[in-house]
Amino acid sequence: MSKTKYVFVTGGVTSSLGKGIIAASLAKLLQARGYSVTIQKFDPYINVDPGTMNPYEHGECYVTDDGAETDLDLGHYERFLNVPTSQANNVTTGRIYQTVIDNERTGKYLGKTVQVIPHITDEIKRRMRLLGDSGEYDIVITELGGTVGDIESLPYVESLRQLRWDLGVDDTCVIHLTLIPYLRAAGELKTKPTQHSVKGMLELGVQPDILVCRTERKLNQDIRRKIALFCNVKQNAVIESMDVDTIYEVPLVMLKEKLDRVTLSRLKLSAKKDPELTRWKDFLFKLSHPKGEVNIGLIGKYVELPDAYKSINEAFIHGGAMNECKVNIHSIHSEGIDGTNVAEKLKNLDGVLVAPGFGDRGIEGKIETIRYIRENNIPFFGICLGMQCAVIEFARNVAGHKDAHSTEMNVRTKNPVIDLMESQKKLKKMGGTMRLGAYKCSIQKGTLASKIYGKTSISERHRHRYEFNNKYMAEFEKGGMKMTGINPENNLVEIVEIPEHRFFIGVQFHPELKSTVANPHPLFVRFVRAAMEYNQR
Ligand code: GLN
Repeated sequence: MSKTKYVFVTGGVTSSLGKGIIAASLAKLLQARGYSVTIQKFDPYINVDPGTMNPYEHGECYVTDDGAETDLDLGHYERFLNVPTSQANNVTTGRIYQTVIDNERTGKYLGKTVQVIPHITDEIKRRMRLLGDSGEYDIVITELGGTVGDIESLPYVESLRQLRWDLGVDDTCVIHLTLIPYLRAAGELKTKPTQHSVKGMLELGVQPDILVCRTERKLNQDIRRKIALFCNVKQNAVIESMDVDTIYEVPLVMLKEKLDRVTLSRLKLSAKKDPELTRWKDFLFKLSHPKGEVNIGLIGKYVELPDAYKSINEAFIHGGAMNECKVNIHSIHSEGIDGTNVAEKLKNLDGVLVAPGFGDRGIEGKIETIRYIRENNIPFFGICLGMQCAVIEFARNVAGHKDAHSTEMNVRTKNPVIDLMESQKKLKKMGGTMRLGAYKCSIQKGTLASKIYGKTSISERHRHRYEFNNKYMAEFEKGGMKMTGINPENNLVEIVEIPEHRFFIGVQFHPELKSTVANPHPLFVRFVRAAMEYNQR
């Protein structure tokens, strides 16, 4: 195989410019031209991983098959490329320092003073090359989190500078994402922040090869010429990135702007062939030409922050497009729901998803929601905590165990229908100790789940500590709630259903993490269909 080439994506001027989407879009185009590509993200914060962070801090925590708790951008990478990521695809400053400090404690540095340069930068460089060294990829795209100029980003930009020389300048390409603001009072697009941002890069010894410019207005030739002149890039390397309706359009916008071609020519690679994007375009067409629409309630406690349920929102976009149906998501705060207002809050919904989550806040609102939709035969989909709440609700209102609860919320309940796994009981450390990553599940034949998946053996990703308490299995089965998916190795319940209900399914795992444009998750596809059928009744 030829030598692996490295593309780096940095950001300047402000955060939230969408580096992850640009990286994923470029990767999609290169993949569609026949290259094997992966994307990794380096985050400059001190947490070892985002697993211990509150969603308000960091948005959703994305979990990979190998059980890494990672940045939500990895979700975009998988959704765009349809290739799984792993622990190696997300590295934080905390992890880098942890490795270096462990090395120091085991005497690996032979008495040297351990310093940011070379020890931290060497470890960053080692990790930057890890996926490339596997020999599996033609191109590795590395997104550097944060904004150039931040103190915490310095070691990363320095590592990138060094790596360019270690690898050879033709084997690397640096794409810098910036903002070209439009000043209404002046009636002009302004390039100065971009000039300063590139100057910031130059001070650190890195000349960007390509500038991707986020802008609300088109960049005319004069502006492009000016940016090229002041920032030492070719004019065709000034790429316009206008705001679009959906992130899934970005690869096509980048194709038009030739981001892929300019990158390949910088890396001295051939364009190979025109990108094969038939399925992608088909998906986009369906997405923008829906034949119907449904209203889905998303009941959670982080509803103010759309990034907290990122993968669920995206999985609905994929599942909606498959059904040629627009999915309107109505986020409803579970804290505000009680027996007096539940009917009003859930009015006009065609289906309800109860979201994953941790802790006590808003739990009774979720349980009340499920009571209402179970009694009124409204399509229900519960994920992780959402499934656990369905079990608690069933225990209380059908099986008659009024005090039933999860021991996460009430350790003293006499009916711990959701309880801590044995293996979790002795754990003291919080980080990385949940049941994480892919586990197998066997589905009973003839059930809703088996119809949805079209098979009886599946693998799905997990992130939880608590489980269905199997002591209640026989009683619940008799009462009408069936445990239709079981982990074949340890008998843990993975899927519950109420067959008498129109559509009632709860899953202990996180199906949203595996939904991609090429492979929309069947549970979301089928749940949207159930909502469409309910809507047309
Ligand atoms: N808090 C629950 C548990 O730890 C559910 C977790 C989740 O929804 N991801 O088991």
